[in-house]
Amino acid sequence: MRIVMKFGGSAIDSVKKMNNVAELIKGYKSQADHKGKSDSSNEIVVVVSALRGMTDSIINVCDKVRKGLKEPIYEFIQHTRKVHLDIIENGIEDNSLKSEALLEILPILDELRDVLEGLVLLSEVTPKSMDYLLSFGERLSTPLVSFFLLDHGLKSRSLTAKDIGILTNSEFGEASPLMDTTKLRVSHNLEILLKDNMTPVVTGFIGVDQNGSYTTIGRGGSDFSATIIGLSVQANEVWLWSDVDGLMTADPKIVKTAKVLREVSFTEAMEMALFGAKYIHPRALEPAIEAKIPVRIRNTFNTQNVGTLITSKPSNESQKTVKSINTIRNTALIDVSGSGMVGAPGTAAKIFDTLAKNRVNIMMISQSPSESSISMVVRKNALDKATNMLEINLLGKVIKKVNVNNDVAVIAVVGSGMRGIKGVAAKVFGAIAKRDVNVIMITQGYSELNLALVVNNKDCEEAVNALHMEFELS
Ligand code: ASP
Ligand code: MG
Repeated sequence: MRIVMKFGGSAIDSVKKMNNVAELIKGYKSQADHKGKSDSSNEIVVVVSALRGMTDSIINVCDKVRKGLKEPIYEFIQHTRKVHLDIIENGIEDNSLKSEALLEILPILDELRDVLEGLVLLSEVTPKSMDYLLSFGERLSTPLVSFFLLDHGLKSRSLTAKDIGILTNSEFGEASPLMDTTKLRVSHNLEILLKDNMTPVVTGFIGVDQNGSYTTIGRGGSDFSATIIGLSVQANEVWLWSDVDGLMTADPKIVKTAKVLREVSFTEAMEMALFGAKYIHPRALEPAIEAKIPVRIRNTFNTQNVGTLITSKPSNESQKTVKSINTIRNTALIDVSGSGMVGAPGTAAKIFDTLAKNRVNIMMISQSPSESSISMVVRKNALDKATNMLEINLLGKVIKKVNVNNDVAVIAVVGSGMRGIKGVAAKVFGAIAKRDVNVIMITQGYSELNLALVVNNKDCEEAVNALHMEFELS
């Protein structure tokens, strides 16, 4: 089997965890195949995130750079050096490997220092320089993992996205891979190493544009890197290793009896992934769907658990009407209304355009057939900007009134078995009504895969538990 395995930052942020991951990879590398042939070995491509907290720290340090604050920047440089060097010092047993690891890491740490020193003089961070800074998180963690593999007796090499050829456009911060070129280059570069019985370790999250500048592909992007690579090398499976057991029937912090889902379809996973305990990059499943590569969610701290398998065709026994109850907290509802909106083509376009231009993302939309009001759900931290912009640009013209509820929760009931089944909505609303919870807004799309409703945030626990019980998900 050829498997791409991605490890999240919380799986590799200490010597103990690094050793654990190295043993785990070694175990799968030499595992007997399903026919019991022990001389066969799996081919594994490893993709890694930055050590836990690194990406956030870099984003944080960009703020200090903009303010021209040298002190916290030096603290950051010191801390980053220490964290990475300590793992080598205390973790790599073989002395010559230890020296080699230092030789590889030290120039990257120096480069990070030089860049920050330069930028702080300018007190400026452009999207391009921010991506360059962010690249250090993964460029530092990747050699660490590779040297641990060497120390555990595997043949390995660390490579950046630039080395293997993950080419993207120049949308810094949210770059898109240029798949045709990427596929050719990545398969060419990795195939040679795999033939040589190597276990390559590749940076997640980052790419390179046509000018050779580092780009990033969005927060949590290592999942996406893993599937891009999976597609390129025609992997049999992609495994996303992190610190949770898998996709769940509900958030275990809300429902005590929530369970791990054994199998879900790609479309179901897309509906669940953004909101569950395991956040998956929204685009990560695209390459897997295209190449029909099954994706597994697994927990490095609980390898006994087989995790969740995401495939195009989940087995029949895993089919249920409703599979999971997902929650999105920290959201707010905006309702715009006015009789001027009725029968006036272009009203919705103006509203959405105003929000889009100000980079406010809308999560949920509903309009009544009378057309006199449109309700939208946005993240709470975007509420201020959203209402401000609507008021400045449209109030008194297209719209008469902007109402806000600043503390709501979205509950999404997900399952492809809901399609064409009568009575699901009745069960949902019946269960919630029994708990005396008020529903503020509702949406269901044509696919019937997802029924979403908005309640006051304080009612969220109650409603989710009611639904979890109603659909017997425990
Ligand atoms: N390190 C990046 C982030 O924290 C990418 C990843 O973890 O997948 O967003
Ligand atoms: Mg991360």
